[in-house]
Amino acid sequence: MTLQAGVVAVQGDVAEHVTAIERAAAAHGRDVEVREIRESGLVPDCDFLAMPGGESTTISRLLHDDGIAPEIQNHVAAGKPLFATCAGLIVAAADTGDERVDELELLDVTVERNAFGRQKDSFEAPLDVAGLADDEPFPAVFIRAPAIADAGSAEVLATWDGRPVAVRDGPVVGTSFHPELTPDSRIHGLAFFENEEAALPASESA
Ligand code: GLN
Repeated sequence: MTLQAGVVAVQGDVAEHVTAIERAAAAHGRDVEVREIRESGLVPDCDFLAMPGGESTTISRLLHDDGIAPEIQNHVAAGKPLFATCAGLIVAAADTGDERVDELELLDVTVERNAFGRQKDSFEAPLDVAGLADDEPFPAVFIRAPAIADAGSAEVLATWDGRPVAVRDGPVVGTSFHPELTPDSRIHGLAFFENEEAALPASESA
């Protein structure tokens, strides 16, 4: 069967996630059709979702205005995988300390926006990420990235500079950085195809 994937596309780096999902699916022997989510009514048909980076205050506002926010909450409540990166992680968090973000409360984490500096402070770091297919460090790109100030009940998958930057909370994986900006799709694979706490339709051969 062909899996249905959605990339929340109200704002942010959408095309890169589409490519990363296709690459991760191919690596896991799964067929996938990826849609860009710009309106309500599409999320209920998705087996898994990515929520990209961008500008969290804008993404938050548009998701609520367009009626997509409750659909994403229902998706996670049904145990389906969600992968939230950078601004997506901010929107998915339980608390951001910023009243311009209406958090979806999908991960039990508190984030601090822009904790790693401004655009000019962007950097790439080799990260050890728990649960990756091999022991190779992951090339993590940080762009005006949030830090996870309190990981709550979430499992910390990676830290940088002593701070959690990748977490899993049931069906949701969140990263402060941008795995979609590198050709390495192992974290997409982890979030969608290897997360035993999330429900994905089995492949026919399984
Ligand atoms: N700093 C942005 C925000 O707070 C996130 C940056 C990003 O997604 N690259 O929304």
